[in-house]
Amino acid sequence: MSSPAGDEGEPGSFLDRVVTEDDPHAVLAGLHAAARAADAREAIIYLRAEYVGAHRAMERAIHEAHAAGWLGDDLHVELVIGQGPYICGEEASLLRAIERGRPHARPLAPFPVHRGLWGCPTVVHSVESLLTLNTTLTTGRGQDRRLICVSGAVREPGVVEALHGMTAGQIIDEGAGGLKDGVRMVLVGGPRGRVLNADELDLPLDPEHVPGMGYGSLMVLSEDVTPRALAEHLFQFTAAESCGACTACRVGASLMPKMVDSEALTTLMEHMSSAARCGFGRETPRPVLDLLRLYPGELFPHK
Ligand code: SF4
Repeated sequence: MSSPAGDEGEPGSFLDRVVTEDDPHAVLAGLHAAARAADAREAIIYLRAEYVGAHRAMERAIHEAHAAGWLGDDLHVELVIGQGPYICGEEASLLRAIERGRPHARPLAPFPVHRGLWGCPTVVHSVESLLTLNTTLTTGRGQDRRLICVSGAVREPGVVEALHGMTAGQIIDEGAGGLKDGVRMVLVGGPRGRVLNADELDLPLDPEHVPGMGYGSLMVLSEDVTPRALAEHLFQFTAAESCGACTACRVGASLMPKMVDSEALTTLMEHMSSAARCGFGRETPRPVLDLLRLYPGELFPHK
């Protein structure tokens, strides 16, 4: 069984939607190749409910692939519409959401889902990895580049193809028309990623120079967005999307906005990164610690 996910709930992340709407056949071809490699006979594409255009495009692509004869009885492809919880970015949660989205199919396996959908061996791919697989198979290139969502204070926001090791400044200049005036910060990789200031845009976007940069997105923030406002947004996002299953993340999310100095907030972040059960809670501190590093005097109300 092969299961790609087209569900992105982070601010500044729209790659799956754009790719699935614009080139569903490439995603389907990547899925077909991945399924053949795994000898899978059944594939499920999980798309978030809000992606109505992507859903229609993928349905049409499946129909056309059957009509053209390259998708046949060897692989059954089904769409499952998700309800958009952020936690479905985590693999076991995604698999459980798919099972719940198809209650008619088979009884639920015991939780946690360690052995794949309904206990069957399951391979999970992202939309981007399927697209990269298809690009690599059809053109021989693809592994040396990735797709980056660029949004905010740039002249031409959109999805940009970037070579590995390019800097944020190069990606913005060459793929997004350049910065607008008055840029102060860039959120790299969404609310679980990193914050760079305008002087750090010449850092190569790779794990060596920007560890923990997360998925491919650059959200460029103008001077209108203060470090405090960004911190509050990160706090609200964590509180809204924490599933509440473990104490470190649930209680940490409620305490973050109440911290009144750097020391207290740093200590709380250390507890969350070491004690949270999943990546969501463990990665929450990354951008917050960047804000503390870059703007220590601007995060807290003056006493
Ligand atoms: S860290 Fe804990 S509470 Fe937060 S999302 Fe993960 S399991 Fe849920």
